[in-house]
Amino acid sequence: GCSSGGGSTETVTPGTAPGFQPFEFQDGSELVGFDIDLTTAVFEEMDGYELAEWETFEFGSLIQALTSDRIDFIAAAMTITGDRDETIDFSDPYYSANQSVIVRSDGSFSPSELGDLSGRPVGAQSGTTGEGIIQDELIANGELEESNYTSYDNYVLAVEDLENGNIDAIVIDEPVGDTFANQRPVEVAFIYETGEQYGFGMRTDDDDDLTSAVNDGLQTVRDDGTYEDLTAEWFGS
Ligand code: GLN
Repeated sequence: GCSSGGGSTETVTPGTAPGFQPFEFQDGSELVGFDIDLTTAVFEEMDGYELAEWETFEFGSLIQALTSDRIDFIAAAMTITGDRDETIDFSDPYYSANQSVIVRSDGSFSPSELGDLSGRPVGAQSGTTGEGIIQDELIANGELEESNYTSYDNYVLAVEDLENGNIDAIVIDEPVGDTFANQRPVEVAFIYETGEQYGFGMRTDDDDDLTSAVNDGLQTVRDDGTYEDLTAEWFGS
């Protein structure tokens, strides 16, 4: 973002990857979701910073968009991983999730563990931890041929291919798998527990204390009940 002198306001351009309901998705022309509302609430608590308009990218392009200064902040249900942590700075964790494996709800294929995906065409979204599970837990040990895996720019495209029968299963963050299961002819076959923690992403070279300001804002919205209100609104719990 623009650097600031004493007393002025720094503008922060947030970036996300829609198509990941309930975290970020298009409602008509409007970008909505838990991440959008939480980011807005956190920045309202931060003196000296203001949010610019949201920029949208495919999930797999977000880190590059951040490091090349096209955006200053990632809010995209992004899991804090050791690999990513080498490139970007994460806020404190703000949400915890597992992975789920979703299939068509016609009963044609009912896997109950990862190994059951062996020999099946499967998909995930490019650059996600779901893709990492397929790579590390199935392809790397020979349980799945590389050619059986399709990497999609967006999970919406993967679900369409699942419905069409082009693939038989998708590995996806559980809250989002649940949403697809509520809206499309797909269902959750089983949960793969990862205990992932989502964090907001920022550049490591920002010397302006953005990360600590975000963490303070996050703590404030947790303490004042805003966080709880938002989880009730977007997850019904
Ligand atoms: N939490 C997963 C990850 O960080 C998926 C995020 C997403 O697809 N938006 O890789």
